[in-house]
Amino acid sequence: MNTLRVLLSWSMRGDQLSLMDENMEIKWVLVLLGAPGSGKETQARRLSRTLGLPQISTGDILRRAVEMGTELGKLAKRKMQAGDLVPDDVMCGIMSQRIAMEDCRRGFILDGFPRTPEQVKCLDVFLQSKPQMKVGVFNIRVNKDLLIRRMLGRRICIACGEIYNIYLKPPKKEGVCNKDGGKLICRPDDNEVTYGHRQLACAQTSRTVMEHYSSRDVLYEVDGNWEPGVVSTQIYATLGKVRQELESALD
Ligand code: AMP
Repeated sequence: MNTLRVLLSWSMRGDQLSLMDENMEIKWVLVLLGAPGSGKETQARRLSRTLGLPQISTGDILRRAVEMGTELGKLAKRKMQAGDLVPDDVMCGIMSQRIAMEDCRRGFILDGFPRTPEQVKCLDVFLQSKPQMKVGVFNIRVNKDLLIRRMLGRRICIACGEIYNIYLKPPKKEGVCNKDGGKLICRPDDNEVTYGHRQLACAQTSRTVMEHYSSRDVLYEVDGNWEPGVVSTQIYATLGKVRQELESALD
C-alpha cells in the first residue's frame, strides 16, 4: 500500500487550514454544489487560494465566451438569459479539454460542474484514468430568503472577478472594487425572473448528481447560511477528517 501513502501536512493560518500534498500522491478534485447564490464561487475561490489548485467555473467560462461573441458564447447567451442549462455535449466537450490541461495535474476545484448525470459520467470517465485523484463533493445549503438576497445584491468586479453584495458585503465605494478599482457589475441572469428558472433547473438535476456522489460516500453537507470564512472552516474541517480517515486506513 506504499504507493497509496498520503502525506498531508496542515497548518493553521487565521481561520484557514492550508493543505499540502507533500509527496504528490493524492490529488484533490473538489466539487462544489449548491443553488445559484449559495456561495459556490466564493468558496471555490477561497479553496483555490488556500490549496493552490485551479478553480474552474463553468459559469465564468461561458460568460467569457459571451463577452468574446464566439459561437459558444452565442449559444450560452441564449441559454443563460433564459436560465436554462447549456447542453451536456457542449459542456462535456469544454470540460474534458479544460481538466486535461497541465495546471490540473495536481488536482482542481470545480464550481458549477457537474450539474447533470451526463456531466457526472464525463467527470467519472476522466477520473477512471487518474487513480491518484480523490474526489470530495461539497453541497452548500442556504435558506431560500438568503439565497434571493445574495443573488439580487450580488455585484462582480469586471477586472478581477471579486464578488460583493450590496446588502451583505458592500464595497467601500459604491460600484467600485476595493481591490483594483474595477467597475462592479450585476450579472444579467441575476434577476428574479431568470432566478426562478435557474433554481428549478438546478433542483431538477442536482438531486441525481448528489445521489451519485452520496452512493460513493464522497458527498459532504455544508451549512452555507454563514459568512464565507465560517463556511470555509466547515469545508477545511471535512477535508481534515477525510485526510485522517485516509491515513488510518493506510496504517
Ligand atoms: P453559474 O455561474 O454557475 O450560476 O452559471 C450560470 C449559467 O451558466 C447557468 O444558469 C447555466 O445557464 C450555465 N451553466 C453553468 N454551468 C453549467 C453546466 N455545468 N451545465 C450547463 N449549463 C451551465
